[in-house]
Amino acid sequence: MAVPGAIHSGRIEQGHDLFGVVNPANGDVFEYVAQADAEQVHSAVAAAKRSFPAWASLADADRQAALTRCADIIEKHADELARLLTAEQGKPFGGMGSRFELDGAIGWTRHTATLSLPVEFVQDDEHAHIAIHRRPLGVVAAITPWNWPIMIAIWQIMPALRAGNTVVLKPSPYTPISTMRLVELLQQALPPGVLNAVAGQDSLAPILTSHPDIAKVCFTGSTATGRKVMGSAAPTLKRLTLELGGNDAGIVLPDVDPSAIAEGVFWGAFINNGQTCAALKRLYVHDSVYEPVCDALTRYASTIKTGPGDQDDSILGPIQNRMQFDKVVQLVDGARAAGARILTGGAPLQGPGYFYPVTLVADAEPGMGLVDDEQFGPALPIIRYSDIEDALAQANNSDVGLGGSIWSSNISMARQFALRLECGTSWVNKHGAIRPDTPFGGIKASGFGVEFGHHGLNEFYSLRVLHD
Ligand code: NAD
Repeated sequence: MAVPGAIHSGRIEQGHDLFGVVNPANGDVFEYVAQADAEQVHSAVAAAKRSFPAWASLADADRQAALTRCADIIEKHADELARLLTAEQGKPFGGMGSRFELDGAIGWTRHTATLSLPVEFVQDDEHAHIAIHRRPLGVVAAITPWNWPIMIAIWQIMPALRAGNTVVLKPSPYTPISTMRLVELLQQALPPGVLNAVAGQDSLAPILTSHPDIAKVCFTGSTATGRKVMGSAAPTLKRLTLELGGNDAGIVLPDVDPSAIAEGVFWGAFINNGQTCAALKRLYVHDSVYEPVCDALTRYASTIKTGPGDQDDSILGPIQNRMQFDKVVQLVDGARAAGARILTGGAPLQGPGYFYPVTLVADAEPGMGLVDDEQFGPALPIIRYSDIEDALAQANNSDVGLGGSIWSSNISMARQFALRLECGTSWVNKHGAIRPDTPFGGIKASGFGVEFGHHGLNEFYSLRVLHD
């Protein structure tokens, strides 16, 4: 039997047509998912709308308890979900792979359960009572990408539910299986209709983003699709959180110890095979340490094995899909043809599947696609600079601004430069570190709105002022 295509009102439904999900480790379809149809999308929205009033009026402590039950269920089924994730996404089970992603999902759910929604008082005395209450918005559509499917679904679902909204989730057609199983399991912890999901091709999403009964869309994906979401949501003036693409720059100052920073730079760039929104995607290295940094990164890269995610010794898996694989091939080939130097990797691995090795590209320059565009894969361009002002200008010369980093042994100087990076998060001597209590989001064409913690929760309610 195929993976169910729709879960609404607590019911698990098949769909009419099937679509195949490919195992990126061999390129073959390994499972079929029932494609939800438009009617099922409407039923899911209707179920979420029906269940909203009761869920919204629950005592806060009851919703907190429900989220904690969700975390317990994910924890109990973490290995099962992680195996499904490895099969469809490609990332290894261990290390910073699918089990790590499940641990993140559990941690974020538990933290979101602890957040409070207090009533704020501007004034409360014999002259006036002015109180600010928080009210959930209604039905939230959650639309997720294929790189961290479970974790990103949790980032969207949990604060929405915590604030009293109900949810219809649509996973990426590349990685729907673990998400549909997650939603199925979470039905045990939530009243029917509070969390619903529909699986299918991209064409399902506009039904949600234009639906009059959807109050808000949480979208994580590419900038190009984010623009479509915004256009589609405009007629009904939906609230939006758009977490879009990035092309994060890291700048290495002359005072670093190359071997001391190599591991941090490497994982900043290559976590999840580079298929991470806030991965380090352009590395600017001062001329005086350029070759030693390249050497240290190459040495570290030689210890990383790329292989099937279900093999214990694989540290990185395949690229998730053919389209992304072709893009990485094209960007690296283009950089090489334009004069860049391949330090390691640089060509697909032999055999089936979308395997591309860790690739370090030295003497990269602006104007190369690998520098100017988001590669979203295991290839890092390394650009030489001699003037920090020039490096900062190049780093900021981008229409996106998700994250950025400065690498230096002088922390106070690094912080000053970090604050001049045009992005949502500036790291010092690390890249991509995120936490459930710290806001995360982009500026410029990386989107708007933030996720995580109290600031993230703000995105899921409106303020109701009571003034007498
Ligand atoms: P994508 O934009 O192709 O797809 C994302 C989701 O949008 C999928 O579920 C897809 O089915 C859906 N979709 C497709 N067409 C749509 C439409 N017209 N309206 C609404 N939804 C539609 O992105 P992807 O390739 O899955 O993900 C990779 C991109 O996501 C990268 O650019 C990456 O940087 C970005 N990303 C950003 C963050 C962040 O937090 N900023 C996190 C992860 C990924």
